[in-house]
Amino acid sequence: MDPFLFRNNNLYCEDVALADIAAEYGTPCYVYSKSFLLSRCQAYLQALAGYKHLVCYSVKAASNIYLLKIIAEQGLGCDIVSGGELFRAKLAGVPGRKIVYSGVGKSAAEIRSALEYNILFFNVESEDELLLINETAAEMGLIAPVTLRVNPDVDPLTHPYISTGLKENKFGIPIVDAERIYLQAFNDCKNIKFVGVDCHIGSQLIKLSPFKDTAFRVRALIENLLSHGLQLDYVDFGGGLGIDYDGEDVPEVNQLVDIFTEVLEGLDLTIVLEPGRSMVGNSAVMLTKIQYIKNSSEKKFAIVDAGMNDLLRPSLYNAFQKIEKINISQHSASDPFSKYDIVGPICESGDFLAKERAFPELYKDDVLAVMGAGAYGFSMSSNYNSRPRAPELLVDGSSVTVIRERESYEDLVRGEKLGR
Ligand SMILES: *Cc1c(COP(=O)(O)O)cnc(C)c1O
Repeated sequence: MDPFLFRNNNLYCEDVALADIAAEYGTPCYVYSKSFLLSRCQAYLQALAGYKHLVCYSVKAASNIYLLKIIAEQGLGCDIVSGGELFRAKLAGVPGRKIVYSGVGKSAAEIRSALEYNILFFNVESEDELLLINETAAEMGLIAPVTLRVNPDVDPLTHPYISTGLKENKFGIPIVDAERIYLQAFNDCKNIKFVGVDCHIGSQLIKLSPFKDTAFRVRALIENLLSHGLQLDYVDFGGGLGIDYDGEDVPEVNQLVDIFTEVLEGLDLTIVLEPGRSMVGNSAVMLTKIQYIKNSSEKKFAIVDAGMNDLLRPSLYNAFQKIEKINISQHSASDPFSKYDIVGPICESGDFLAKERAFPELYKDDVLAVMGAGAYGFSMSSNYNSRPRAPELLVDGSSVTVIRERESYEDLVRGEKLGR
C-alpha cells in the first residue's frame, strides 16, 4: 500500500497534495505518511504473531520522537545505539523492558544510564565492553542482561559501507570466538547475565539467503551454549531487510520471519528483530524545489534547494533514490526526455541527489519528490554549509502535523561563543 500516488497528475501523500505542502511549509522538507508507518508496524507484528517476539525499531533510521511514540503505541520497542537515542526512546515513552542497546562504542556513562533505565539487554560487541558492563553493573549493585553480537562471517550481498557481518567488519565478535567468550564470562563475570545471542549482518539486504546462512550459524552456537548450561531466552536477528528503491524485488517481512522460525524449530526462544529501513524507508519523501537550470554544451543541471546536508545517501553510498516531479502538467508530459544531474547548493562536487537521470524538460520552481527518503534521510542530515535543517511533517489522511520545525539561524549557532 503506497501512500505516495498520483491523482490527476499531482503527487499526493495520503489525501494531501505535495504541492500544497511545498507551498505552505516551504522546501526542502520531509513528508511522512502515518498510515504507511502503521502498516509496517503491523506487517512485523502479524508475521511474528504465532511466536514469542519483540520488534525493536532501529531508532537511527528515523529518530523523531513523534514517530517513535507512534511506533511505541503499536507495542514495538526500540533498538538504540547511543545515550542520545536512549533519551529519545524515554521521551517517546518506550519502557526499558522493550529496549535493546547495540553499538561498538558504548561509553561508561551510556552503559550506566541504560542500566538505570532497566533495559532488556545490551548487545555486546567486544570482550572489553563486556568487562566494562560487568564493572559498571557491579558498582551499581546490579546484574546486567547481555547478549553477544556475533559476527557470522556471512556476505550480506549489499553495499560495502552497510555490510556489517563479514569478518573484516568492525562489528560484533567473530562467531568462532563467541563460545569461548560466553563460557569464560559465564564463569568470571558475576554481574553479567547472558540472556541470548544477537547478530546484525548489514543493511538493504534484498536476498534471503544471507539471513538463512546466519540463522543456521547462530542456531549452532545457541545449541552449544545450552549444552554448557547457559540459559538463553532471546535470539536477536537484527535488522537489514531491504526496500524497493528502484523496482527491486524485495522479500516480504513474513518470508523473512518464516526463515527464522524454520531454522529455530524446536528451540524455545523469544525472537527479537531490529528493523529500521524496512519500517520507515518508504514512509517519507523529501521535497525540494528547483532554483536554477544550468545547461552547458556538456550537461544539464537542475540546481535544487536541498543538498547532501539534507539527504546524504546519494553522496555517501552513491545510493539510487527515485525522483518524481510532483506535477506532471499536460505540456511536460509530451516533452522529450533528457538527462539531468540533480545537484544541491553545497560547495562539494559530491553534492548530488541524482546523476544522468531522465526527465521531461525541467523548469525553475518545479518541485521534486525524492522517494524512499524515510530511512537514513533526516536522521543523517547535518548543518554543513551552515544550512538550517529541513522540517519534518507527518500526514494523517488529510491533516498535516509539523513534527519538527525548520531550524532557524539562531539554532545554527546555539552553544557557540563570540568571545570578547
Ligand atoms: C542500523 C542497525 C539496524 C537497522 O538496520 P536496517 O537495515 O535499517 O533495518 C539494526 N540493528 C543494528 C545493530 C543496527 O546497527
